[in-house]
Amino acid sequence: MRILLQFPEGLKQYAMQYAEKLEKEGNEVYVSAEPSFGACDLAIDEAKKIGADKLVHFGHAEFKRVDFNVEYVEYPITASLDLLPKSLELLKPYQKLCILTTIQHVHQLRDIKAFYEQNGKQIFLNKPNGFAKHEGQILGCDVGNVASLDKQVDAFVYFGGGLFHPVGALMQTTKPFFVIDPFQGRIEQIDYLRKEEESKKKARIARAATARRFGILVSTKIGQYNLALANILKKKIESKGMQAVVLLANTFDFDSLNNMLEIDAFVNTACPRLVTEDQERLRKPLISPDELMLILESKRKK
Ligand code: SF4
Repeated sequence: MRILLQFPEGLKQYAMQYAEKLEKEGNEVYVSAEPSFGACDLAIDEAKKIGADKLVHFGHAEFKRVDFNVEYVEYPITASLDLLPKSLELLKPYQKLCILTTIQHVHQLRDIKAFYEQNGKQIFLNKPNGFAKHEGQILGCDVGNVASLDKQVDAFVYFGGGLFHPVGALMQTTKPFFVIDPFQGRIEQIDYLRKEEESKKKARIARAATARRFGILVSTKIGQYNLALANILKKKIESKGMQAVVLLANTFDFDSLNNMLEIDAFVNTACPRLVTEDQERLRKPLISPDELMLILESKRKK
C-alpha cells in the first residue's frame, strides 16, 4: 500500500521510525514535511498527488468527514497526576468542577474524575460542539458547551500543557479557571487573562477601524477553507465604499502578508486562533469576521 504519513510539529521527531516500521510491513511510505497544527489540516492534496491509498494523520482525532481514506492515530500521552492532590487546596471553595483537556489526555479523564469525586467534588464534562470528538476534549476552535456549563459549575479545571487550549475556553466563561500543567509542574489560576484578552481585542478593533483596504485570509486547509464567508465579507466591506481582496494560502506566511503594503487590515476566515495567537507577527491588525462586523456596523451609525 502507498501511504502518506502526516505528523503535527511535536511528533515530527518520530516520523522516521514510523516510516521504517510501515516499510518493513511491505508498504511504500512517504512523509509530509508541511507544517501541521490540527486535524483541520489534512495533507489530502499531497496524498492524491502521489497516488497514495491512505493518509495516516497522527496526534489528532477526526475533525470532519472527508472523501479520502484517512487513518487517525490519536497518540495519547499519559501525564503525571501528581499535581491533583496539591490542587485540592486551591479548589477547596469550589464543589462543582468542569474538567477540560486535550485529545492527548482524554484517556486520563476517567482517573482525574474519579480522584476529584473521591474528594467530594461533583464533576462535569463538556460536550463537543462540532469539531472535537470526545466528551471533555477541547480544541483551539471548539470548546464545546463550556458557555452553558458556566451556569452550572463553580470552577473550570484544565489539565494539560500550555495555555493555547484553555484560553479559548476561558473567554467563554466567567467562573474561576485553573490550569494544571503536568509538564511544567504548576497549577495556576488564569482568570487575569480574560482582561488581557479583552483589551487586546479592543486594541485590534480600534486599529482596524481606520482601515480602508482589507485583505481577507482564506486557508485552503480542508477544515478551515471558507471562501463563501470571505466573499460575503468582501461584499459587505465594498458596500461601505471600501476595498477588499481575498488572499489564499494553505499555511499563511506572515512575512509575505507583511509585504502587502497596500493592505490596512486583515480579516481572518482561517483558523480562528490566528487572531489571538499571531497578531504580533503582523504589522497590520488582524481581526475576526465578528470584529469586522462591529466595525462596519459602527460606520453605519455615523
Ligand atoms: S482550526 Fe485552528 S484551533 Fe481548530 S483544529 Fe485547526 S489549527 Fe486547531
